[in-house]
Amino acid sequence: MSNALRDADIRYVLHPYTNLAAHEEKGPMIAVRGEGVKVFDTAGKEYIEGMAGLWCASLGFSEPRLREAALRQMDALPFFHQFGHKSHAPGIELAERLIGMAPDGLTKVFFANSGSEANDTVVKIVRYMNNILGRPQKKKIIARERAYHGVTVAAASLTGLPVNHRAFDLPIEGVVRTGCPHHYRYARPGESEDAFATRLADELEAQILAEGPETVAAFIAEPVQGAGGVIIPPATYFDKIQAVLKKYDILMVADEVICGFGRTGNAWGSQTYNIRPDILTCAKALSSAYLPISAVLVSDAVYQAVKKGSAEIGSFGHGYTYSAHPVAAAVALETLKIYEERDLFAHTRAVSPTFVTHLMRYADHPLVGNARGIGLVGALELVADKATKESFPPAAAVAARLVELAQEEGLILRSLAGDIVSFCPPLIITDAELDEMFTRFDRAMERLTAQLGIG
Ligand code: PMP
Repeated sequence: MSNALRDADIRYVLHPYTNLAAHEEKGPMIAVRGEGVKVFDTAGKEYIEGMAGLWCASLGFSEPRLREAALRQMDALPFFHQFGHKSHAPGIELAERLIGMAPDGLTKVFFANSGSEANDTVVKIVRYMNNILGRPQKKKIIARERAYHGVTVAAASLTGLPVNHRAFDLPIEGVVRTGCPHHYRYARPGESEDAFATRLADELEAQILAEGPETVAAFIAEPVQGAGGVIIPPATYFDKIQAVLKKYDILMVADEVICGFGRTGNAWGSQTYNIRPDILTCAKALSSAYLPISAVLVSDAVYQAVKKGSAEIGSFGHGYTYSAHPVAAAVALETLKIYEERDLFAHTRAVSPTFVTHLMRYADHPLVGNARGIGLVGALELVADKATKESFPPAAAVAARLVELAQEEGLILRSLAGDIVSFCPPLIITDAELDEMFTRFDRAMERLTAQLGIG
């Protein structure tokens, strides 16, 4: 069975985010079943899912209440929508619950199906708003190096990674790129975290002045940058950045697609980093990834401009067939109830020290330039030379090799550009499971170290 599936995969599937030529040789790992923080492949081999899928399956892979919520909604009303004065209970109750838990000042929810669609919606709302407010020149959006905001045309343009631009004729116009707050990589020798944050804020201000503040509409940021390398900002970074944005009437957009719903130990990364967003996007853990759904939360000022435009034009001409899909919304609503009933964000804070301590064991390892983690998201950044921070040649694919070895040991991780190995287990993980996860990782690391002839 598994060989036939493997062959059909190679024959028919155009895989996302994959070296397709290599895939024809290697073939897929095919998952068939999930249980708690684990998944099982066609051969029955068990893996700890150290990435919660794609930073998303916070409740693990077998939560019965989500299955039941989907079934109930399937039976009651499998589809309806929110276009043109229509609505349905799961979409309404989910919006109410999101606003109830959101950072202060966010008052309305627009639903979409993915993080990319949510961030694309942000680009469109920012344009719409400023056209309606009679300042059509105020449209540029500032995004950071190594940002990840998705892959649709506008969202990929906000993303700051070469792999998402090269050969795609991206980015589109109107995106201004600013610095990435990765102290380990980009601070000057001897520069403190605080001085580094000050410099980034000063550079941002200089860029805004060079562009013309009247042309800059918004700044978008992940509280912790995920796919760009699990980059944890210096403590004062967002305070300093937000002071600059405020001065020039620039919207703060928090992309909480990874950080939202407890990942950093609080409901929102915005709480962890004192971010006061005018717009917030979320997805992934919103439904524990059991069904696709995302949301854009906006402030009253943004909403009022959109409302004015919709009245002038006759309609807010934006929405997806599956915006607030009732089954996805019902599953998301159940997910948020579970987070609250089980106090899962407090659980994340409780197990986080075990997680971070395991990562920090590697801080002195000869292959590890930097170890970092917050809540239940972290990374090890591999280097050829610890003292100079020199990287391995990309062709050596050292992080990818480590991830392959970990997979052989029964642990799924992910390698990111820059030889970074990321960790983002389901939030339900226990201390004992974290210990087991790192036991498997230790074995992978020992094998890699032996292969490279180090230590
Ligand atoms: N924003 C962030 C911060 C993300 O991590 C991701 C996905 N990894 C996205 C947006 C895009 O989400 P999607 O893949 O659902 O379009």
